[in-house]
Amino acid sequence: MRASQATVERAVHCSGIGLHSGVDVAMSLQPAPPGHGIRVRRTDVAPGTGEVPCDLAHVVNDRLSTVVGNSHGVTVATVEHLMAALAGMGIDNALAMLDGPEIPAMDGSAAPFVELIERAGIEEQDTPRRAIRLRKPVTVRRGEACISMTPADAFSIDFRIEFDSPVIARQEMSIAFANGAFVDDIAPARTFGFIDEVDRLREAGFALGASEDNAIGIDRQRVVNRDGLRFDDEFVRHKILDCVGDLYLAGAPILARIVAARSGHAANHDLLRAMFADEDSWAWYEIPRGENGAGALTAVAAAG
Ligand SMILES: [Zn+2]
Repeated sequence: MRASQATVERAVHCSGIGLHSGVDVAMSLQPAPPGHGIRVRRTDVAPGTGEVPCDLAHVVNDRLSTVVGNSHGVTVATVEHLMAALAGMGIDNALAMLDGPEIPAMDGSAAPFVELIERAGIEEQDTPRRAIRLRKPVTVRRGEACISMTPADAFSIDFRIEFDSPVIARQEMSIAFANGAFVDDIAPARTFGFIDEVDRLREAGFALGASEDNAIGIDRQRVVNRDGLRFDDEFVRHKILDCVGDLYLAGAPILARIVAARSGHAANHDLLRAMFADEDSWAWYEIPRGENGAGALTAVAAAG
């Protein structure tokens, strides 16, 4: 696992439509100093009011996507796929300049953000990196969702989903994030939605930018996208992607094994809240220099 904090080497740009807002947005991902964390700065609001840290304390809504906001009432929607890419690439510090209310959906996965970071390059900073070391198990339940974490030397996720749809049905995946597993197996998995829910969502002001270009559409018996799925179990892979992004709102990589059933943004955040609420359950862990324990600890770096 990388022992130094890291940022992007140079500014890189992307643009696209917001999945829920339907607004065209442009984003530039820029380097940031050690200790800065991940922040978004809205450039379309009054000067001095647009900066929003992407951390748990600033989550203001997590019903359909993860929305962060600040005390000026400025919000940024759908940060989770960008956060997953930053986690997966081991980026601690970055500033995303954004000219609208939502991170661009791109293709509905984290792969375009991974490519963006690869294009920027990764710069190691001369400051030690910290992880959160879990010290005892934490479990939360919320409706049908259950998610827990147990102490471990590396970050891993075991995720199960069950939908009342023959297209998804029951899917389960365990992943240890070693050897680029996030980039290859999780980042390309796209978000998904049910066609018969789209009208209701749009009336409520959501999914206004959703299309076949940025989401998997599910009809009663089939996937409607012309090119089909990227993985047979793309749905559970995307849920893992969301979980990686949501848990990175902790502000550091977490050394724990995550076991989740039917979890989503709200329960993922609840898990972090439960951990932070019990100060005996975790501790900061400074990642030792010269550590090259290949498998386990490298895996954590890959998972963020
Ligand atoms: Zn998602």
